[in-house]
Amino acid sequence: MKLDGKVALVTGAASGIGHAIAKRYVAAGGRVAIADLNLDAATAAAKELGDAKTAIAVAMDVANEDQVNAGVEKTVQAFGTVDILVSNAGIQIVHPIEDFPYADWKKLMAIHLDGAFLTTKACVKHMYKQGSGALIYMGSVHSHEASPLKSAYVAAKHGILGLARTMAKEGAKHGVRANVICPGFVRTPLVDKQIPEQAKELGITEERVIKEVMLGETVDKEFTMVEDIAEVALVLAAFKTNALTGESIIVSHGWHMN
Ligand code: NAD
Repeated sequence: MKLDGKVALVTGAASGIGHAIAKRYVAAGGRVAIADLNLDAATAAAKELGDAKTAIAVAMDVANEDQVNAGVEKTVQAFGTVDILVSNAGIQIVHPIEDFPYADWKKLMAIHLDGAFLTTKACVKHMYKQGSGALIYMGSVHSHEASPLKSAYVAAKHGILGLARTMAKEGAKHGVRANVICPGFVRTPLVDKQIPEQAKELGITEERVIKEVMLGETVDKEFTMVEDIAEVALVLAAFKTNALTGESIIVSHGWHMN
């Protein structure tokens, strides 16, 4: 599948899954804006992927409306348009609900849900004008399934499904598709941080967190790789018709099956 110069804005692309998607898009002939809170890492990632005609870094806190609008405008100024949004930036915060600080709940919701809303709103303006576009949201197995300690994350990732399905309906007449990718556990900094945290909260070893909590329900006890997610993101970006819209695709070594 080829992107033939299509322009993608990928949030949270300085690290982990977003970075792998940006890399895959460039390899498929796309141009990418690496939007991230961490501008230094985004700049390094953009340089690694190509020159300014192929990859640019954009400073963006996805929960800040002005920064999102400015980042989308910078992308359009650099590349002429935006064809693909990958709303991927995310964090994880784990606590039992009775100890969950409200500020942490709000922070997580803002990054995942406000971020998806604000970037969608800013990008569809350009997509509707040209009559085409692909919205891709990073959900999770936790868009379909719950785990203890993750109330905010599970609620946010379920919410992403609602936004994507609504956008599939609103976007259809403008040629804009909306889909969700739902990864299982992928070994990125976001997951590495959780291993000791969950071990502490659950009172078990880190090895047991990996084997039982993270991979226990998979068909082969394997982590999903960033490259697996990037491949699915390419298919969703390059797909040509509204036949594939409003869907969520689970990529989890069989941890969760719809
Ligand atoms: P990561 O920590 O490797 O990367 C996240 C990136 O998002 C970082 O570069 C960070 O700087 C950026 N970011 C954080 N807050 C931001 C903000 N407010 N504005 C802009 N950028 C911000 O994490 P990852 O594992 O690659 O996660 C990416 C997405 O995938 C998240 O939405 C996460 O929930 C989802 N996901 C991850 C896994 C997994 O196992 N790693 C599984 C399912 C879903």
